[in-house]
Amino acid sequence: MTVRFDHWIGGQSTPAGGDGRLKTRSPADGSEVADIALGTKDDVGKAVAAASAAATGWRRRKPIERGRLLLRLAAAIHEHADELAVLESGETGKSIAQATAEMMGSAAYFEFYGGLVNSLQGDTIDVGPGFHTYTLNEPFGVVGVITPWNGPLNQASRGVAPALAAGNVVVLKPSEFTSATSLVLGRLATEVGFPDGVLNVVTGDAQGAGVALVEHPDVRKIAFTGSVRAGREIGRIAADRIIPLTLELGGKSANIVFADADLDRAVQGSLTAFTANAGQICSSGTRLLVQGSIHDEFVERLVSASRSVRVGDTLGPMTTKAQYEKVLEYFDIAVTDGARARTGGRALPEAERGKGYYVPATIYTGVDNSMRIAREEVFGPVLAVIRFDEEDEAVSIANDSDYGLAAGLWTQDVSRALRVAEQLEAGQVYVNTWSAGIEAPFGGYKQSGYGREKGVQALHHYTQTKSVTVAL
Ligand code: NAD
Repeated sequence: MTVRFDHWIGGQSTPAGGDGRLKTRSPADGSEVADIALGTKDDVGKAVAAASAAATGWRRRKPIERGRLLLRLAAAIHEHADELAVLESGETGKSIAQATAEMMGSAAYFEFYGGLVNSLQGDTIDVGPGFHTYTLNEPFGVVGVITPWNGPLNQASRGVAPALAAGNVVVLKPSEFTSATSLVLGRLATEVGFPDGVLNVVTGDAQGAGVALVEHPDVRKIAFTGSVRAGREIGRIAADRIIPLTLELGGKSANIVFADADLDRAVQGSLTAFTANAGQICSSGTRLLVQGSIHDEFVERLVSASRSVRVGDTLGPMTTKAQYEKVLEYFDIAVTDGARARTGGRALPEAERGKGYYVPATIYTGVDNSMRIAREEVFGPVLAVIRFDEEDEAVSIANDSDYGLAAGLWTQDVSRALRVAEQLEAGQVYVNTWSAGIEAPFGGYKQSGYGREKGVQALHHYTQTKSVTVAL
C-alpha cells in the first residue's frame, strides 16, 4: 500500500504549495511505495522560515538538554525500527535485515552526538597582560542537509545529528527516490519533544527543492552527500553566496592485497568491500590491487567466494533505473577497453531478475589503471582487479586517481601497514578490514570532497569560531 507524505515543516505535516507529487517505487519489483510532495521554492522558503524562527531558542538551550533530545530521538528510531525498515527496504530494495541494521546505525548517530554535546569547548589564549582572550564555537544557524538514495536515513542522520547537537537548526532535503524515512525522522523528532522548526524535511527534486535550498539567503551552511557533478553545481552557488560546504562525493577506492596477507580474511573482506549494498556505497573498494605472486590464486578464490553473493538474496537491486542502466553501460565499456569478466559482466535475463534492477556481482581482470573501469565510479557491485609487483608500485597505482575517499590494505607486516597507510591519498584507510565506526572521521581527499563527517571532528564542521578579547 502506498504511503502518502507531505513535507514536515514547523513540527507538522505540511501540504506543498503546488500540486506536484512524486511516487517512489521499489527497485526490487516496481511496486509503489510512497507518494511524496514535489517541493517548490515556496515550500523551501516556509521550511527555512520555520527553522529560522526556532534557531535562537535552540542554540540557547543548555547543550545537555539538546543532547537529551538527541538521545530520545535515538530511542524513538529503535522503537520504530520496523516501520522505518519497511519503508527503507521498499524504496531502496535492501533486505529488511539490512535496512533494520541501517536503522540501528542511524540511531547511533543521535546517541553518539547526543553524548558529545558538551565536548565543544573553546580556548583561552594568552595575548599578554591586560587582556583576556577566549574562543566560542557557535552554530551557523540554518543548515541545509541534502542526501542521496543509497543509505537514506543513515546519511540524513550523519548530517542532522551533529548539526543539531552543535546548536544549528536543519532543513533536510532527501533524495527524490528515497524520502520516506527522512519524513518519519521529522515526525519522530517532534514526537519526542524537539521544538517545532528545529528539524524540517522538504521533499522534491534537485532542480526544484534542492537548488532552492542552496540558494536561500538564510541558509548558512550546506552539508551535501552525492555525486561529484551535483557537488560542483552546489559549490558554484555556494561560492556566490560565500557559504561553507561539507561535500561527501564519490570514490574509486583502492584495496591492496599483499602476498603476506591472511588470504582467508582478505578474500572475504575484499568481497564485502565491493558487494555490500550492491556496491552502492561511496567508499566501496572497487579497485583491487593484488600482488603478482598471489594474483591468480587470489582471483580464483574471490570469484569462487562471490558465488555466495546471490541476486535477490544477499545482493539487492540498483536503487534507480538510471543507476541500473549506468552499470550495464560499464559492462560494455570494460570489455571494449580490454578487461576480462571473470564472473558477471552481463545483464541478467528477465526470468532471473523479474522487474527488479538487479545486476550480478562482477569481477574484471586484466585491468590497467588507465581504463575507464578503473578510473570512473560505477556505483554497483563491479570490481576492477589490477596486478602489481612492488609496494611502491601499489601505492602509486592507488594514488593515481581523481578520487580519494577510502583505501585499504591487507598485510601481516605491521611496518608495511603503517608505511603504506601514511602514503595513501585517502580520507579513511582500513588495514585488514574494510570498515570503520561512526567514531572515526570520514571524508574525501581530492574530488571525493572536503570537510569531515562522523567522529568528534564533524561537530567542529557544524560550528564557526568566534574569538573574544576583553581589555582588563
Ligand atoms: P546526486 O548527486 O544526483 O543527488 C544527491 C542529492 O542531491 C539528491 O537529494 C538530489 O536531489 C540533490 N541534488 C542533485 N543535484 C543538485 C543540485 N544541483 N542542487 C541541489 N541539490 C541537488 O547523487 P545520487 O545519484 O543521489 O547519489 C549517488 C552519488 O552519491 C554517488 O556518486 C556516490 O558516490 C555519492 N555518495 C557519496 C557518499 C559519501 O559519503 N561520500 C555517500 C553516498 C553517496
